[in-house]
This record gives sequence, C-alpha cells and structure tokens, in this order.
Amino acid sequence: METERIYFDYNASSLVRKEAFNLLESINKTYGNPSSIHEEGRSSRDLIEISRNHIANSLNTCENNVIFTSGGTEAIDIALNQNNGRIIINSTEHVAVFESAKKTESIIEILEVDNNGIINLNKLESMLKKGPALVCIMFANNETGIIQPIKKISEIVRKYNSYLFCDAVQAYGKIKINFDELDIHFMALSAHKIGAFSGSGALIINEDIKKIIPLTLGGGQEFGLRGGTENLIGITAFGECAKLIDEIYFENQKLKEYINILEKNIESFGGFIFGRNSQRIPNTSLFAFPDIKADTMLMKLDLAGYSVSSGSACSSGKVKKSHVLEAMNIDDKISSNAIRVSLGWATKKSHITNLLNFFEDIFNKTVLE
Ligand code: PLP
Repeated sequence: METERIYFDYNASSLVRKEAFNLLESINKTYGNPSSIHEEGRSSRDLIEISRNHIANSLNTCENNVIFTSGGTEAIDIALNQNNGRIIINSTEHVAVFESAKKTESIIEILEVDNNGIINLNKLESMLKKGPALVCIMFANNETGIIQPIKKISEIVRKYNSYLFCDAVQAYGKIKINFDELDIHFMALSAHKIGAFSGSGALIINEDIKKIIPLTLGGGQEFGLRGGTENLIGITAFGECAKLIDEIYFENQKLKEYINILEKNIESFGGFIFGRNSQRIPNTSLFAFPDIKADTMLMKLDLAGYSVSSGSACSSGKVKKSHVLEAMNIDDKISSNAIRVSLGWATKKSHITNLLNFFEDIFNKTVLE
C-alpha cells in the first residue's frame, strides 16, 4: 500500500493551484503567438495583458511597470545588471543575487545582519553616506522566513539618491505589498511560489526608472525590455493566481496557527527555532534538533512520506552549509541540522499532527495540544 505523502516544501515550489490547472484547457483553444496579428495571436496577447493587469493590481501599481520574465532569477539578473558601479548586498540574500552581482563589474559590499537575521539600518545609512549604490535587500528570507523592514529601507535608500532592489519572491502572497507606496525601484516575483507554474516571473519597475538596459533583445517583446516569445501558459497561470492574491494572503495568515503548534512542540522536544524573535512570514519554520544532521533527518522524513527541505539545499539536491545561518552567526554544529517546513494552500492541521507524531516517536516525547 502506498503511503499518502504530505508536502511541506512550499517555499521551494508551491503545489499548483487548481485555478492554474483549470486554465490549460481554455488556453488550448486560443493558443497562438502573442505577436501574431491573427485571431489566435490576438487572443493570446489579451491573455498576457489581462495577467499583467492582475499582477499590477495585486501590487497596487501600474501595468506598464510589470515585465514578464522566466522567473525570479531572471528578474534579479535584469535588475542587478542596471547597476551604477556599487552594489550593497544583504548577507542573507538568495544565491541568485550574489551570482548576478558578481557578473557585473561593480564593487560589491556586504551588509551584515544581526543574530535575529535583520539588517542594521544605521549601518546601511553609513554605507550610503560614502556614495550612492544599488541596494539589494529581500522582503522575506526563503530559509528562515525573516522579514526585513522594507519601507524604512526604501526611505533611507531614497535619501541617499540610491536604488533599491527588493527580492519579493517569498513575500508575495504572504505579506501585503503596495509597490507604489513602498517606493522600491526594482522588485522580483516568481509564479511558482504562489501556486502557478515554474518558469515564469516578473520584474516590477518603478516609474522613476526612465531607462532599462535589456539583457535579451530578440523580437522586442515586453516593451523592448525582454525579448523572446512570451510563456503564454506560465504567464496566464501567474495572472490567474495574482488575481487571488487577497485569498492567498488570508490562507497564509491562517497557517501561522499551524506553525505555532509545530514550534511549541519542536521546542518541547528539545529543538531550536531559527529567527524565533523576528517577524517572519506565516508559513515558514526553520528548526534543528541537537543531534540529528539535516540530511539524515530529511531522509527519515522522506521515507515516512514527508516532503521537507533543509532550506539550504542547492540545485543538485544536496544539503549545503547555509550562508543565511552563517550570516546570523549560528554555530555550524546546530546550523548543519536545520530543516525547513514551509506550508501552503493544501496544508491541513492533520498534516502537522502527523508530523509531530513522527517526531514524538523519534524523541520519545508526548505531543502538546
Ligand atoms: N529569490 C528567492 C528568495 C527564492 O526563494 C527563489 C527561489 O527559490 C528565487 C529568488 C528564484 O526564483 P525562481 O525559481 O523563479 O528563479
């Protein structure tokens, strides 16, 4: 008999929402190249523009500010390659930010976080006093879920005539984002983190930015800023999920209750919660038990039917040292045991109960209500 699997890895990729799947059939009837002038082309163009509209509305910004990309990574790459010679990077950014920055000829400076994973605003200000820069600070961290004070950061960045790039891939749908009010210059989003398909994302650009240097010219799509025939299915599904952003937000807020139950028990089993004292997105918990390495625990969980991640897994699937926990000054002994549980739209309370029963057996302790 096959065991029912329980998915706890929404920060890696959300399970696809039924709204995204349901679209596939209707797209089949109208599929064409959005640049073609015939009926199929025009229908496809309409689908793309409707999606652009949904994404813009979900962020309280204007459609012209939304550029479709192949995902969060490409959006990051375009934003960082507009740089002005100096890039300041928060030490807990996603690896894509560090890699894109390295490709430019800019001087890279690292902005450290404290033990709670939060950047120091005074330090940022003193760095900017030395001269303008492109500042890269993520909204919410993919491993720990820790949230950075983006509004305060954008005020400081503006004060020093600098630019702010914000990776909002993990925040979108979990924090309300009012792009225009936050006054961010560039922001990256990814479709597969909100229940649409992987391979689609967006770069959101502030109206202040008068000129963008495209990385791919091709046929001049996306206002000439990102060439290449648009990913019709990916973009349409992305828009359909963006239309549901308020619903997704409320679903995520409800998950906080499950995370609280989980963390209370993890602690009673002797575990350690990373970012315990920080404001975090409601679906994420990164924790460690003192004597069990992450890869061993992940294997045990996988065999028992639980899909959990280490938070710092790389594309080869291996658990690697977490630069995020290192930046938070966490001892290697404990950080190498860190595992991440991230919840989403299909998570039920019984999934948490099952997971806790699994830990109960390992640690020989009783689950608290
Ligand atoms: N930024 C963050 C914080 C992420 O978690 C991810 C994906 O895990 C990315 C960027 C990359 O997004 P994509 O997979 O769409 O390229």
